[in-house]
Amino acid sequence: MDSPGKNEVIVQGLSASQGIAYGQVFVFIQSDVEVPNYQVDADKRIAEVGRFEKALVSTRQQISKIKGEVEKNLGPEEALIFDAHLLVLEDQALIGETIREFESTGRNIETCFDHVSSRYIQAFSEIDDEYLRERAGDIRDVAQRVLQNLLGQAENSLSRLADKRIIVANDVSPSDSANIDRSEALALVTDSGSRTSHAVIMARSMKVPAVVGVRDVTRRVKNGDWAIVDGYDGIIIINPSETTLFRYGKIQEQKKTFESLLLKANSQPAITLDGVAVSLMANIERVEELQMVKDYQAAGIGLYRTEYLYLNSARIPTEQEQFLTYKKVVEALAPNPVIIRSLDLGGDKPMAGNPSLFPKEDNPFMGCRAIRFCLVHTEIFKDQLRAILMASAYGKVQLMYPMISGEDELAKANAILEECKVELKQRSQPFDEKIEVGAMIEIPSAAATTDLLAKSCAFFSIGTNDLIQYLLAVDRVNDRIAHLYEPTHPAVLRTLKQIVDAAHKAGVPVSVCGEMAGDPVFVPLLLGLGVDGLSMSPAWLPSVKYLVRAMTMADAKALAAEAMTMTSPKEIYAKCDAFYRKRVSVE
Ligand code: PEP
Ligand code: MG
Repeated sequence: MDSPGKNEVIVQGLSASQGIAYGQVFVFIQSDVEVPNYQVDADKRIAEVGRFEKALVSTRQQISKIKGEVEKNLGPEEALIFDAHLLVLEDQALIGETIREFESTGRNIETCFDHVSSRYIQAFSEIDDEYLRERAGDIRDVAQRVLQNLLGQAENSLSRLADKRIIVANDVSPSDSANIDRSEALALVTDSGSRTSHAVIMARSMKVPAVVGVRDVTRRVKNGDWAIVDGYDGIIIINPSETTLFRYGKIQEQKKTFESLLLKANSQPAITLDGVAVSLMANIERVEELQMVKDYQAAGIGLYRTEYLYLNSARIPTEQEQFLTYKKVVEALAPNPVIIRSLDLGGDKPMAGNPSLFPKEDNPFMGCRAIRFCLVHTEIFKDQLRAILMASAYGKVQLMYPMISGEDELAKANAILEECKVELKQRSQPFDEKIEVGAMIEIPSAAATTDLLAKSCAFFSIGTNDLIQYLLAVDRVNDRIAHLYEPTHPAVLRTLKQIVDAAHKAGVPVSVCGEMAGDPVFVPLLLGLGVDGLSMSPAWLPSVKYLVRAMTMADAKALAAEAMTMTSPKEIYAKCDAFYRKRVSVE
């Protein structure tokens, strides 16, 4: 194993979740599909072995290439690990056993290789010798590459990190992020992605630092490297020197002092200096996050992303399974409200185990996703709506539809909701008959017709993550254009103001649940524009509450009014940043 300090390399990316972490790296190469398991016809068995041999050759070539690059960029010592990887590929026991298993079972070669390599990984990881235990990591890496070469698939190893690790990945899909072993992830660094990708949202909810858009980072590090991840400045420092470690130790101490200040504000009410109360709620994806919601004293759940129940499942959860999960959340929060969002599957969040429901689309972000998917697959939608209604008997539930693009869609969804209510009544199943229904405003057409939607909505929540992407035509997860993803673009500000004004004219409250709501730099701007509440990853609640208690609403209004007259997104950002820094000492 390498010791820290040699050949320090600093790589710049985008800051996505604040905090500093120091530890060893786990490199994760994302895969999209699982290893299929099928019988190979007798007449295709020779070709199957040939396929395996070809994959081994390709893997060897890839590893040699990476080794050469690492040698060039980081030095020969850093490249030694790849020699160990090449040795795994020559391990006759591993390869011979795979072929023997294939000959005796006739299952496809990926399945056999997966079985055998998993057995080896298991065996090595249990050995009471550090050097040999580390070989398990080598075999795992190599096995992933072989499987990728066979199929473009790799097993998802994020769910079983060997120890506390900094995850360095080419990309992390929503289903991968749902799989991350939360107690073992120290930080997240990705080649691709942007600040609003779901992996980042997950990192924030886990309170782990994240840096995204660090192109090629997966090629520059290897398993076991030591690194510092600075989520404030968006950098990863590979093999940090003693001096760097010392400097970061100091920074971390200062941040800790600041955090303890934040935690003091945590138990105080979220009221501005001029006496305006602000509703601060939490976004959650999984039941496990409830503890943080409680610890950080959220006023309720402003966004429950229910699709995470489905993402890694091979089948749709039943009405009963969903009901029990929702009930847990609702009961934990009662009497505070829980806004349950109906399925936002599809697009960047397809169901990994159910590709037939999500055929490949050229423009998935604009495809059959969220409410569109639900209005096509009404049985799936109805199961969920009934489960949400049933949970409403146990506390205060509000139902919210995602990706509403106009009145017609809203009317269709509501008609289906009414059918579900009738069905539950027939079953004598209790539910809150006055359940409030609202819509996310995250598509420009919904923003433009907020007044029309207001007629059938009890509340709105602005999804700035998507609204910005559609308004500016900037893919929210494409790092090549991440610099164009500008929350302070005048078009965004004007649209936000238009939504808030139209909603208020109709007497409908409007909150924000996109990532902007949890970023203290944007909080005064949003409040100044008139939004009634903010919902964010629970981990952000203390900083936002601290800021709310350190500012006046009158100043926030003046900031928003001035920002509305400005033209440059960068200057507007700088204005917001200065407002924040003046009220909160961050360094
Ligand atoms: C949003 O789009 O802002 C939002 C909150 O929803 P998601 O990030 O789940 O798309
Ligand atoms: Mg959205």
